[in-house]
Amino acid sequence: MLEVQPIHAFNDNYIWLIKAPNQKSCWVVDPGDATPVLNYLQAENLTLEGILLTHHHYDHIDGVADLAKPGVEVVGFAKDAQRLPALTQPLVAGDTFELLGERVKVMEVPGHTLGHIVYFIENEQQALLFSGDTLFAAGCGRMFEGTPEQMQASLQSLASLPASTQVFAAHEYTLSNLKFALLVEPNNPALQTRMTDCTKLREAQKPTLPSNLGIELATNPFLRLDQPEVLASLEKRHPEVAIDGAAQAFKLLRAWKDTA
Ligand SMILES: [Zn+2]
Repeated sequence: MLEVQPIHAFNDNYIWLIKAPNQKSCWVVDPGDATPVLNYLQAENLTLEGILLTHHHYDHIDGVADLAKPGVEVVGFAKDAQRLPALTQPLVAGDTFELLGERVKVMEVPGHTLGHIVYFIENEQQALLFSGDTLFAAGCGRMFEGTPEQMQASLQSLASLPASTQVFAAHEYTLSNLKFALLVEPNNPALQTRMTDCTKLREAQKPTLPSNLGIELATNPFLRLDQPEVLASLEKRHPEVAIDGAAQAFKLLRAWKDTA
């Protein structure tokens, strides 16, 4: 069993800290800033054992230089090694490695960047996904480098993980994502409930994460491209387009979100 805690960074980033109960070793995911991590380690008397990197954007890697002391593992995608801090464990898609006694699987999910990977941990008690800027609560990352086909396929591969999988995304974007999702699916009751729940959490200054894949499948429009109400909203917005396939629906939905 692993415990995961958020460390807040910048305006809306979460640096996830992973530890085992009653142990002092820990890992962090995407430390864009070292200071809040060092403060947390000191306050909790923890020792950093390793760092997981999902992609090369500065708000995910800029803290590595000050955290990666000798003996600290730095794990990332071999394909993007030139754009990442020095990796001690360059990995490829499908690789597995051990973290605090648990097996971690690397999944390649191009779209937000071409070298984006995510980390999936599954044991008898829990399933955890560190989804970086690919899958957000009720949304997904912008397509900076990939194509709609790539990004849609990437999200689909995540959607096929167990519904109980807890989703640890790298940003607190949930309320704005839900606002957009309700434009797309105003009649989805699960979405209305989630907006109420997440609004309460944010009013109490609590994270809306982790999410889980079951909730995402019920409320995240980017995982619901086959739903009649999603398609009807896209068709209403683009009467000139005959939508043919999930990649095209994704492209239209992502473009709508980018300007919403
Ligand atoms: Zn990013």
